[in-house]
Amino acid sequence: ASPAPIYTRDTRLGLDCITSTQAGISLGVVVREYASLSQLHKQYFGFPGEILMRMLKLVILPLIISSMITGVAALDSEVSGKIGLRAVIYYFSTTIIAVILGIILVMTIKPGVSQTADHIDRTGTTPNVTTVDTLLDLLRNMFPENLVQACFQQVRDIPNSAASWPGLGELNESALCLLSWQNITKEYKIIGTYSDGINVLGLIVFCVAFGLVIGKMGEKGRILLEFFDALNEATMKLVQIIMCYMPVGILFLIAAKIIEVEDWEIFKKMGLYMVTVLSGLAIHATICLPLIFFVIVRKNPYTFTLGMAQALVTALMISSSSATLPVTFRCAEENNRIDKRITRFVLPVGATINMDGTALYEAVAAIFIAQLNDYALDVGQIVTISITATVASIGAAGVPNAGLVTMVIVLTAVGLPASDVTLIVAVDWLLDRFRTMINVLGDAYGAGIVQKLSKRELERMDLTSDVDVANP
Ligand code: ASP
Repeated sequence: ASPAPIYTRDTRLGLDCITSTQAGISLGVVVREYASLSQLHKQYFGFPGEILMRMLKLVILPLIISSMITGVAALDSEVSGKIGLRAVIYYFSTTIIAVILGIILVMTIKPGVSQTADHIDRTGTTPNVTTVDTLLDLLRNMFPENLVQACFQQVRDIPNSAASWPGLGELNESALCLLSWQNITKEYKIIGTYSDGINVLGLIVFCVAFGLVIGKMGEKGRILLEFFDALNEATMKLVQIIMCYMPVGILFLIAAKIIEVEDWEIFKKMGLYMVTVLSGLAIHATICLPLIFFVIVRKNPYTFTLGMAQALVTALMISSSSATLPVTFRCAEENNRIDKRITRFVLPVGATINMDGTALYEAVAAIFIAQLNDYALDVGQIVTISITATVASIGAAGVPNAGLVTMVIVLTAVGLPASDVTLIVAVDWLLDRFRTMINVLGDAYGAGIVQKLSKRELERMDLTSDVDVANP
């Protein structure tokens, strides 16, 4: 891995995306002000953005499969075990830091204390959710029964009991609930969300196992490894093409969103809550993560962040860490020069389970809702919130609004009405964008940190292996 990040074509494209974000905002404001578009015309307006989303989602599956398999197979099992362990320790510790930061801020700023929850419409039933075996269910999900089904997860219709949950209808259609049928209570329980119909966690586990086996198969395994390596390279070439279209897609995505939003007043009402979430995310992104990065890697964390610019703007625009994954890969490898053996392994897992922004948001939102309800939380309940917010962030897929759905896990754990998520639905689209950005940044820093910690093993491998398939 070579030293400092450099100013590449991708960095320039990242800056182009920032420019098109600004242009998109201006365009949105002007059209909103001077043209009254019908619903249909608004849809047409958002069309170029929709195409961008579709293209990014299209490459997720080949990208995850090829990068995980080659990533694992290129390492020996001992090294991949060490890298995996380091990544998981990083994921957990930074997520916990984010949750604690969120809790400190919301308890200090108290955004919900001066407000009341009287205006909430509490009609409709609350989906039945318990935390008891949420984690077990998540683990179950890691072992799909059928590989084809895992790539094309049959998304069950939301059952009637949950469909009447107020707020659910307003959620973005991609945040589909991952429901688990409870034999004992004969009901469905929300345990997470699907990532655009793909059981990413299940696929990752399979690919890790498959990669390990291929890596040990010698000459025979090499054919497969070369196949997946070529698949990965071809997919990344496609990503490169998609990235050229990005400034256009982003411009229309943001403009269409500005035209579409009806209630801007709500931002005033929810101002303090939003300030709490956003300042938490900002502190985590500009102080906590960079500090950890600097202490371990000894390089300028902000230059590293700049190298990730395009991925961050993409995350901000499309609110999906899964769909941003292709861009995250490019930025991490091309601009920040992170070893492919690390990115291929650490980034897909990170995009699925490492969500610092979501965890912070869930903790803040749960305590905000408690404050609105005049519900005094004891220390035990606050600890419960930190644990469940962490679990809920792991259970949330990297798709828009997923965190809002898994919020139910946190609320019910401390006895708050799950239907109170209605309170925060209206501003979620904006907060979601920022927390997704922090989720992506956390993954990228994670790759940088794991690379530094694994330097010795990687160097040893470079010396011993004759051909390096992952880093040709
Ligand atoms: N949209 C977020 C992501 O993709 C998940 C969330 O809703 O918090 O990372």
